Amino acid sequence: MSRQTTPTVTAKPGVTHRRRPCQRVYWHSCQSLITRHRGMPRATPRFSSVDVAESAGPLEPEELVRYSRHIGLDEVGEAGQRRLKHASVLIVGAGGLGSPAALYLAAAGVGRLGIADFDTVDLTNLQRQVLHDTHGVGLKKTASARARLTAINPFVHVETIDEELTAANALDIIAAYDLVIDGTDNFKTRYLTNDACVLLGKPNVYGSVLRFEGQASVFGSANGPCYRCLFPEPPPPGLVPSCAEAGVLGVLPGLIGTIQATEAVKIVLGVGETLAGRLLLIDALRMSFRTIRLRRDPECPACGTREMKSLIDYDEFCAPRSSMRPQRTSGVQEITPRDLAERLRRGDTIDLIDVRESYEWQIARIDGAKLIPLGQFAAALGDLSRDQDLVLYCHHGSRSRAAAEFLVERGFDRVWNLSGGIDRWSAEVDSTVATY
Ligand code: ZN
Repeated sequence: MSRQTTPTVTAKPGVTHRRRPCQRVYWHSCQSLITRHRGMPRATPRFSSVDVAESAGPLEPEELVRYSRHIGLDEVGEAGQRRLKHASVLIVGAGGLGSPAALYLAAAGVGRLGIADFDTVDLTNLQRQVLHDTHGVGLKKTASARARLTAINPFVHVETIDEELTAANALDIIAAYDLVIDGTDNFKTRYLTNDACVLLGKPNVYGSVLRFEGQASVFGSANGPCYRCLFPEPPPPGLVPSCAEAGVLGVLPGLIGTIQATEAVKIVLGVGETLAGRLLLIDALRMSFRTIRLRRDPECPACGTREMKSLIDYDEFCAPRSSMRPQRTSGVQEITPRDLAERLRRGDTIDLIDVRESYEWQIARIDGAKLIPLGQFAAALGDLSRDQDLVLYCHHGSRSRAAAEFLVERGFDRVWNLSGGIDRWSAEVDSTVATY
């Protein structure tokens, strides 16, 4: 994006701000988002407040003390604290985003918290997932979360949903809560959560992080946009790396998850101006915060035309060969770990190239591989043989696919990408290879 095309965004009537171009909003440029949403009809995305049960009884004496710093705020007061007590929030994902969100919502006195996660606590989680601790490694995240949240505030009722959110169960699970915090780390669950919230009319407090960048918004308001208005389709698999692939600054999900908790509390209380109709972008390296105005897309099948009457097949929607969207054709051949192991066992001559970083190489490697980190790949091109079979691998398969595409584009035709990377190799071929 060039300086000449830097867009000017109207933040308030009469006030304009010149915006710096950002690198990307994961897979769309800021420019395209701003331009697209500028052309959409204006709406007033506003929550009066969610429909919290009116049967809210009085607070106990200990609660009056516990929440006294809340109750002293005119915008909260005892009535607002009772609303929080009788509110329910579902947190989808007890990971980097869900951790601070759950901690602050429990401390704030949200009466019923649902924690949906079917994963276990892993050592690599602890750099950012502050809901869990070292003693919890190997435990179910829901069990770890329940123990911590109950210790913070015994007045909070913690409900654990220890299963994957699917098209079969999402509507029933989400219907039982006033609002949802999207703390997911994959597109399948993100679109599923969005669509279920739109169908049910539930506020969906969105957040996502990658490397040093994060974003947050509130979807599902009466006239405001949903996640599909922003990103109508998921990116081709492998195009956007996961945090496991690309890394994430540990405190960044702390920032975004805390913003999600703030928005959830405001929605329950019915105070302030939420991020509905705005996308907050945070660049932690520059410590810059900016917002882009978002509008509902009249063509959005979920909240625009409302042609989406039920949940869809999200595996198909996000799959590599989905018929619903155009595909990238990379021309790179894939090989499974088992097939590679069989070829190596047969004694086939294969150059096995590891394109990860050297610190990852220290953690685990496949015997016989040669390390060429992706950043040095172009410079090392002359060292690679065009007359030999080359198999490239990385952590999960996307960096090595990019490297393989680079080779194919330069005339290498005996190149394979190891599907699922060293992680799948460890799961299917050699469990002594450490996972991370
Ligand atoms: Zn929409």
